Amino acid sequence: MLAYTYVEKGRFELLEKPRPQLKDAKDAVVRVTLGSICTSDLHIKHGSVPRAVPGVTVGHEMVGVVEEVGTDVVTVRPGDRVTVNVETFCGECFFCRHGYVNNCTDAEGGWALGCRIDGGQAEYVRVPYADQGLNRIPDSVSDEQALFVGDILATGFWAARISEVTEEDTVLVIGAGPTGICTLLCTMLKRPKRIIVCEKSPERLRFIREHYPEVLVTGPESCREFVLAHSEHGGADVVMEVAGADNTFRLAWECARPNAIVTVVALYDSPQILPLPDMYGKNLTFKTGGVDGCDCEEILRLIEAGKIDTTPLITHRFPLSEIEEAYRIFENRTDGVIKVAIG
Ligand SMILES: [Zn+2]
Ligand SMILES: [Zn+2]
Repeated sequence: MLAYTYVEKGRFELLEKPRPQLKDAKDAVVRVTLGSICTSDLHIKHGSVPRAVPGVTVGHEMVGVVEEVGTDVVTVRPGDRVTVNVETFCGECFFCRHGYVNNCTDAEGGWALGCRIDGGQAEYVRVPYADQGLNRIPDSVSDEQALFVGDILATGFWAARISEVTEEDTVLVIGAGPTGICTLLCTMLKRPKRIIVCEKSPERLRFIREHYPEVLVTGPESCREFVLAHSEHGGADVVMEVAGADNTFRLAWECARPNAIVTVVALYDSPQILPLPDMYGKNLTFKTGGVDGCDCEEILRLIEAGKIDTTPLITHRFPLSEIEEAYRIFENRTDGVIKVAIG
């Protein structure tokens, strides 16, 4: 089968590889029907994910059809259409039992797919702990509708959940990339009084204005004043930092009102400064992340009910054989790309 592979730093190649086999009674093999490219794939390509193993098939955003299951798998059967979770988790350790599946202590736990074990930019993928990692897609939900459930939509849902958004709140979302938009959509489900999106790309701001006209938008330079002018208590009640740019961590806590929750979803390339003397008396609560992707079933139900629709994010489509071109467009952010569907 064809598998897009991390060969060495700076180089991915579409290689011919054997089809994956079951290795454990809890495994499933899934025929990938649709996949996507995530910014984390680019981090692997650029060598900034030390855990990534050269030779590994990349890709951790995908949906497919169960081809084969191990003898201990009970929740899915061959023929089922499924979403695949970015995270591998056992479901039994201390962290899994408390819903902190990102911290699963299993040797293969955490973000393994497409990083430490073969992923889904391929025709088939082996999924460990299939009972945890696969969720059945309702018949009325298409592959495109379900594509982001296991990764960026799970991240947005988790971010909105831990941020304790109420209907009284003014929520600031910093960053309108794919994960920022998913965070926005999941925040909208909480019906806060007001949502402000801060983004520097005019193209992405236009996307937000066009698709979500009820959301207020601002650029990073004017963000502080804008939030002050559009909130009642000296800043946003909740801030979600999904940009991970040079100054966006600082912007996040500066835009927060006293006693706000600041949730950091972004993954930074470098350490960030937490200047406690400058924020003394502001009494902020920081929550930092690594998605706990354990809400996929609920997310699929919300999609089925028409409450979440991420299909506008899919701006480009390519077959697996043209994945090089898909990467070129995604990586260079050309042609108004937000997300690419491969399949
Ligand atoms: Zn990802
Ligand atoms: Zn676990």
